[in-house]
Amino acid sequence: MKVLVPVKRVADYNIKVRPKSDGSGVELANVKMSMNPFDEIAVEEAVRLKEAGVATEVVAVSCGSAVCQETLRTALAMGADRAILVETDVELQSLAVAKLVKVVAEKEGAQLVICGKQAIDDDANQTAQMLAALLDWGQATYASKVVVADGSIEVTREVDGGLETVRLALPAVVSADLRLNEPRYATLPNIMKAKKKPLDTLKASELGVDVSPRVQTLSVYTPPERKGGIKVGSVAELVQKLKDEARVL
Ligand code: AMP
Repeated sequence: MKVLVPVKRVADYNIKVRPKSDGSGVELANVKMSMNPFDEIAVEEAVRLKEAGVATEVVAVSCGSAVCQETLRTALAMGADRAILVETDVELQSLAVAKLVKVVAEKEGAQLVICGKQAIDDDANQTAQMLAALLDWGQATYASKVVVADGSIEVTREVDGGLETVRLALPAVVSADLRLNEPRYATLPNIMKAKKKPLDTLKASELGVDVSPRVQTLSVYTPPERKGGIKVGSVAELVQKLKDEARVL
């Protein structure tokens, strides 16, 4: 069973991002970029499936400009066998990514695609769902446990108020939630080995897919500063402030 893992290059989660001065987007110049954290979890799960003898090959795929090779090398250092860059300088939105990954999944004959549940830059949380719809495959989002057996996959999903377990026929699309696993660090020897693993490039323009944006960003700005809180001396004072100042009672 071949497992495909789409990985996105995003601003590192430790970075406090700032809007560009003209409000047209987020400032990414000189910002540390990393693999989307949920995609690290997805790579880890795919590598564990390979280590358990369930998956035969793990292929990481990233859609974007040439710099995404860096993210793919991280996936290779974590244990992916091969990587594919779908190269384009067009700013991709979820639908375009889903269409591109669909082409790759079909070309590769993948039986399972494990995405991150969402990319932490735009928080879209829609690529996995769109991909499953375009492929006409089953989908299980927000996975916290994955068990593959006899041509099907059992996925425990984190839903409001608890856990839900679903069984899907393969091929299928799964999206990884936070508690699925704890991703390993890429060790130095594995980072060195990853440099020799195959990384192929496909030109997005040659895949017959319309990647033009469908959504226009009107403005990006920081939320207004929140006023500091205060400590009240007693319950009576709290009630009085809620009545007279906050006017919520
Ligand atoms: P989103 O729907 O944008 O929140 O992204 C959900 C998941 O789709 C991510 O965690 C990745 O697994 C995948 N994904 C999104 N954008 C890309 C991209 N440019 N290249 C590869 N995978 C992506």
